[in-house]
Order: sequence, then C-alpha cells, then structure tokens
Amino acid sequence: MPIMNLNMNRREFIKTLSGGALLTGAALTTACGSSESGSADISSAALGDIPTDKMEYRRGKHGERVSLLGYGCMRWPTVAGTSARESDSDIDQAEVNRLVDYAIEHGVNLFDTSPAYCKGYSERATGIALSRHPRSSYYISTKLSNFAPDTWGYKQSVDMYRRSLEYLQTDYIDFYLLHGLGMGGLENFRRRYVDNGVLDFLVSERAAGRIRNLGFSFHGETDMFDYLLSLNDKYDWDFVLIQHNFVDWHHAKQVNARNSNSEYLYTELEKLHIPVFVMEPLLGGSLASLNQYATSQLKQREPQRSVASWAFRFAGNQQGILSVLSGMTYMEHLQDNLRTFCPFKPLSDEELEMLERIADNYVSYPLVPCTACQYCMPCPYGIDIPTIFATYNRNINRGQVVTDLNDPAYGKARRRFLIDYQRNVERERQADHCIECNQCKPHCPQHINIPKRLNGINQLVEKLREG
Ligand code: SF4
Ligand code: SF4
Repeated sequence: MPIMNLNMNRREFIKTLSGGALLTGAALTTACGSSESGSADISSAALGDIPTDKMEYRRGKHGERVSLLGYGCMRWPTVAGTSARESDSDIDQAEVNRLVDYAIEHGVNLFDTSPAYCKGYSERATGIALSRHPRSSYYISTKLSNFAPDTWGYKQSVDMYRRSLEYLQTDYIDFYLLHGLGMGGLENFRRRYVDNGVLDFLVSERAAGRIRNLGFSFHGETDMFDYLLSLNDKYDWDFVLIQHNFVDWHHAKQVNARNSNSEYLYTELEKLHIPVFVMEPLLGGSLASLNQYATSQLKQREPQRSVASWAFRFAGNQQGILSVLSGMTYMEHLQDNLRTFCPFKPLSDEELEMLERIADNYVSYPLVPCTACQYCMPCPYGIDIPTIFATYNRNINRGQVVTDLNDPAYGKARRRFLIDYQRNVERERQADHCIECNQCKPHCPQHINIPKRLNGINQLVEKLREG
C-alpha cells in the first residue's frame, strides 16, 4: 500500500493511492485537463468502487432530502487545467458536465454557486451542466452577492436575482442566501439588504414559491450573529451557512480575532432548529495538508484515508448539519470526498479528542488564515496575495521556515523555502511589490491585515535571501 509522504498535498496523495500510472506526465495532464480521462476508473480499481447508493442525506426545514456532501461551484476547472478561481482561462464545460454527472450518479444533489464565483461565470456553467438532468433530481443554492456597492440598489439587486434564475435555467431557487453577512457589520447589512427593500422583496419571492429556502452566509463576530438570529421571528430563516471545521470549532478567534467559534454558531442555530450549511470545511485547504505531527497522527490511525477526509467527517458530524460544501475542481477530489460520505462514518469520542489535539497544535503555528477565496483580487499592483499566503503556510507546515542561523535545519529549510517561493509566485507579483495601498483589506472575509502580513513575509524572504 502506498504511504503518504508527509510533504505531499492532497492531490499528490490521492494520485499515489490511485496507482503509479497516474503519476506519469501524460496521465497527470489528462486528469487536470478537459478530456474524458480514466483517472476515476484507475482510482476505483485501486481503492474499490465508490457505491452509488450510500450517500448520507439529511432533512431540510421543509423536508428536503439533501446530500451531506454539497458541490461548491466556485472552483470549476478551466481549459488550462487549473481552477477558475485562480485562473482567467475559460471554464472547461465538458469537464464540468462530467463532474456534475459523476456527482449526481453518486448521490450528490446540492450544488452551491453565486454570481461572484469563477469571475462571474459559475452560475452559467453550473446551469448548463445541471439542466441536462431532471430539475427534481437536484437542489440549487445561490446568493445575492454583496461585493460591489454599485450593485446594492433595489433594481440592480433584483436584476442580479433574475440573472441567477436565467443562468441557472430554472424558475425557482431551492436555497437562496444573503451573501457574506457580518462583513461590514450591521451598517452594511442594513444598507445592502434592508433599507433598500431587497430583503422584503426576497421574502415575497419565497411566499410566491420562487425561493424555497431563504438564509444567509456569515463571516463575523457573535454580536452580529446574535442580532441576525434575533430577526428570525421576522424573516424565518430557513438555513444558515457558517464557516465550520475542527480548528474553527474552538479556535476561530486564535486564527482570526474577528471570526466566531463554530461551536457557538452551530449551537445557537440548533436551538432555533435552523439547518446549517458548512463552508470552509478544510479552512481554505489548510486542513488537507497539515504539518508533520498531525499528518502522522492521522496516518497511523487510518493509512488509506486522506488527511482531508478527517476534516470532512468533522464538518458533517453534527446532526444539525444539512450539507458540507466542498469546491472540487478535479475528479480525484470528488472521488476522495465521495469515499468519505458514501457511507458517512461519524467520529468516535476518541477521534474527536484527537482532532482537538491537532487543532491545538495547528493554532500554535503562525499561519495566515487565508482561505484562498480570491475576494481581495485582483490587486491593482499585481500582487498574487493568495498564492503568497499559501506558499508561506505550506512552508510553515513543512517546517521550512527557520530563521535561526544556528539551527542545524537552517540551510536546507532556507533553500527549500526560497525555491518554493520563486517557483510559485512570479517575481513581479511577490510581496515586495505591495505598496500598502490597503485596497484589498476591506474585501477579506477573514479580516486579514493583508499588507501587514505581506510585509512580514517580505521581511522573512529578504532575511533568508541575505542569509
Ligand atoms: S495593499 Fe498591497 S496587496 Fe493590497 S491592494 Fe494594495 S498593493 Fe495590492
Ligand atoms: S487574503 Fe482574504 S480575501 Fe484574499 S484570498 Fe485570502 S482569505 Fe480571501
């Protein structure tokens, strides 16, 4: 049985499990690209077939039978073989269709998108793929986004909603969300959704049956969350989307002082019997590629399970969780997740304790809590913010950020870090080009002080280069 190299990322690990054939250049290109590759078949052959009748389902507020694994449509593949979140290339519609077909065949019936995803093209691509299936065989979730204040007027908002119906090729939306409440606090909530009459309009659309469930996604602190829940008598929230994973359960404030522990958010929703959607089950991918301490703990327990699968099991563990959203670009991600949810195995108390210890360890590392959402992009000065943070976090996890010249690991770690940084971040897009204009800061749902963190990383790079 192949054993995971502790420095492998999730995709590399799954490929290794899938068989050596996938490690060839040609197969790698095919798996990332547009053609109907055989990666899923090879993976199934090595690990056993993924059952088509074992998906875990939970009940929505109005009796909907929703798959516990929901398809997040913010990372559709492009013709360049990358995710549309990180690339300007066109979405690879044939590959999107293939992923959607495979997901539906294996029991996934919730697809979550937004007008803001994939640079505005996610809803169209999702609509094309889904409309090839009977409308009764899937649920659509989409959002009234709030990222551009020039779209906050009543007319612009209603137009945005109607475009969602058009692009998704449907005359009703199963789950409709006010996007990103908590960002900008109470004032932005009132300006964006209440004072302009937009929320009242959406409530009337729900009464007319064109919206089946009305809810919101949340990034912020508990006083704002409490306020939104106090409006439940008025708006009768049908569901809420929260950031939830085994680190944010008890340590959200240590990762980011302006977020809320998901234990609190979940418990408050449970008291009101409001079903919960989960975002960031992998905390921006960082829980799929943990440090050596955590990886060895998980691998010792179940060598064949991916590191990511533990985070997904945690995210779906509570019965009030209706669906765990995962953005899956590649077939091997989808297959790995399907193995976790078909069937779904709840965590034992001992496993929960182990994840709690791993979370304690995780927050002792100085990671940047970037989830790679790209909302801060594009930077007008070309800085590749998410890639810089991802590269830094990866090297922290690998123990490759060593600044003490007397440390025996210094030379090797220094070389590896600098090579990784050079390879992954184009020279003119590195942190030293940030002029600290602050334009990116208000867009970050994780409330990261982006210029400050970039400056810190740049100082580290300069120090290592001198060294
Ligand atoms: S602060 Fe730096 S990273 Fe942010 S927008 Fe300005 S130049 Fe770009
Ligand atoms: S810095 Fe913030 S806005 Fe930018 S990608 Fe990371 S989490 Fe998203």
